[in-house]
Amino acid sequence: MNRMELVAEARLPTSFGEFRIVGFLDRGDHKEHVALVMGDITNGQPVLTRIHSECLTGDTLFSLKCDCGFQLEAALKKIAGRGRGVLLYMRQEGRGIGLLNKIRAYALQDRGMDTFDANVALGFRPDERSYNSCAEMLRLLGVQEVVLMTNNPDKMMALQSCGIILAGREPLEVGRNRFNTSYLDTKKARFHHMLGQLGKPDTDDESDIAGRNGADGEKIPGDTEPAAPV
Ligand SMILES: [Zn+2]
Repeated sequence: MNRMELVAEARLPTSFGEFRIVGFLDRGDHKEHVALVMGDITNGQPVLTRIHSECLTGDTLFSLKCDCGFQLEAALKKIAGRGRGVLLYMRQEGRGIGLLNKIRAYALQDRGMDTFDANVALGFRPDERSYNSCAEMLRLLGVQEVVLMTNNPDKMMALQSCGIILAGREPLEVGRNRFNTSYLDTKKARFHHMLGQLGKPDTDDESDIAGRNGADGEKIPGDTEPAAPV
């Protein structure tokens, strides 16, 4: 029996365009996840795909401590720009340690620890996330082959190990600012994320990082880069 159950589906107009929202229940841990779908993703062509792990502070509270909100917005814009794709929104906050533990980890980071060591100091693995359910959700949506928007090699390997074909990767390098530069450098150095430069914010201009404002924002860095071969 499938662990993931497709429970409900509806239209979801957003400031980026009209998606379908598909709700899933994980029958193992009773977590609820969603997919935002645009266009025909069942025609056998590789599907532009983002697996986004929930980040309450970044996605909805405009935090500059990480790049999550920027990545979420950039991914939805890319899907809407091409009229076809899927974003899985996975409820695994704080790399799987939960919201309150993430705030505990932030407190350790305020005292100088990096995000990797903070999670370990709290008794967790550096990354507690699992992507098995993502592959099952994609299959339930009729997707076999993806072009994955990610900088994270773990996600690529995990999907492939679950039988999803990876046709390519598109980098999603956005939102670097003076508050998250060391966090992004940690992602590159200790989580082996495929990020470009180390140590330098894209901009010191506060107005550039203030505006996550829906579909009318400026061009997304990396938008013109071709999909890298896997
Ligand atoms: Zn975040």
